[in-house]
Amino acid sequence: MKTKHLSRRKFIINTSAGTVGTMLASQIPVFASPVRGVASEPALKGGIPVRTKGWLKWPVWSDEAETPMLKVLRSGNWYRGDGTKCSEFEKKYAGLIGAKRVVATASGTTALITALHVTGVDAGDEVIVSPYTFIATYNVVFNQKALPVFADTDQETFTINPAKIEEKINERTRAILPVHIYGLPADMNHINSIARAHDLAVIEDACQAWLAEYGDKMCGTLGDLGCFSFQASKHIPSGEGGAVVGDNDMLMDRCFSYHNCGRPFGESMSGLHGYPVRGSNKRMTELQAVILMSQMERARRDADKRLENALYLDSKLKEIPGIIPYRLSEGATRSAYHLYPFRYKKEHFDGLPRERFLDALEAEGIPCSEGYGKQYFDGLIEEAISSRGYKRLFSEQRLNRYREELHHLPDNDQLTGEAVIFYQNMLLAERQDMDDIINAIRKIYENRKQLL
Ligand SMILES: *Cc1c(COP(=O)(O)O)cnc(C)c1O
Repeated sequence: MKTKHLSRRKFIINTSAGTVGTMLASQIPVFASPVRGVASEPALKGGIPVRTKGWLKWPVWSDEAETPMLKVLRSGNWYRGDGTKCSEFEKKYAGLIGAKRVVATASGTTALITALHVTGVDAGDEVIVSPYTFIATYNVVFNQKALPVFADTDQETFTINPAKIEEKINERTRAILPVHIYGLPADMNHINSIARAHDLAVIEDACQAWLAEYGDKMCGTLGDLGCFSFQASKHIPSGEGGAVVGDNDMLMDRCFSYHNCGRPFGESMSGLHGYPVRGSNKRMTELQAVILMSQMERARRDADKRLENALYLDSKLKEIPGIIPYRLSEGATRSAYHLYPFRYKKEHFDGLPRERFLDALEAEGIPCSEGYGKQYFDGLIEEAISSRGYKRLFSEQRLNRYREELHHLPDNDQLTGEAVIFYQNMLLAERQDMDDIINAIRKIYENRKQLL
């Protein structure tokens, strides 16, 4: 997301500023209010911030990660063909997620490209995509020289609205690519039944949804293939990294083969020699696999902690007028909370613009961001569909209609104007830290007129 990197940088500055704040806290006079800063003026107006302490820095790691890292480093076996670590990780991740098989990849982006390729998404095809996502979801479809066709977002769940999918299906449609954005599971029962009725593949972008649950299964195991990211900001990080997961042996053999230069792999390709299919190099390194294995034990514990804190925030924030926490989609049982989202209705804050609300919240010591914007107008779509290749693959009428349809995503447009998000690492703090968040928003609400 365009704002994500900016905000992340801002967030780091904020975190280090927080350390300074901790030192200053001892000099702050004691106020009548039992909660620091709440009774004062808004921090944006020079008052005492609700919170001066920083937040957990990300990523985190344990000393136990160092010995196996050194061992692999000194062995010189950094490539998966020379070692065993990637294969070990694949087995462990399959166990964690409840998938039959896993192929480790260089990134979430390369996992998605692999999944699209093996499910037959080809030049001139169309893929139905959620517009509310990290830009990689758009890019991977363009990478296949296919068209990402957006079905509008359900504002309450932040995920693709299944009721808007069918009208987008035509004879070129090959797959549906739902995104479990922020770790919130998409409505997979509806999506799968639409896909079955129209003979479409379903590829889950679970790049923010490690250990999120839908019914009694985990996100990533509900469609034909699921894709994960282990990029530095993600819950199970290794700098870069990704995985495709699935239960279909033929598809998973194809994934392995594609990610390994098209060399034959598995039973479904036995008897084949040389390079019988096209491929690429999207392999994970042994060092990435070692870092990931050192992260996995903690992942479950962290997920429980985030859930506990998120449910507490839900219960308190929904009492504040104009603050509407996300709703889980039908059938979803648990979010992964890559980000904690809610909608901000400025009407309840006397018209205080969201930007001003975000600035006020930051000033109170609560890092936050507006989440994803209307990225379909950022330029990449126009750049793609005005290219020589796309003009060859799609008729002028189709491209014109496609361009026009970008202006008919009213729910997504509104959501991008109202969303507010908190970062996952904040949810790893304690109950009293959640109270800082709640108190800061209450304080802004109570002082909304002053902040206008
Ligand atoms: C992070 C992410 C990706 C891409 O993963 P990388 O590992 O950064 O390539 C794709 N989709 C979503 C929703 C993501 O958050």
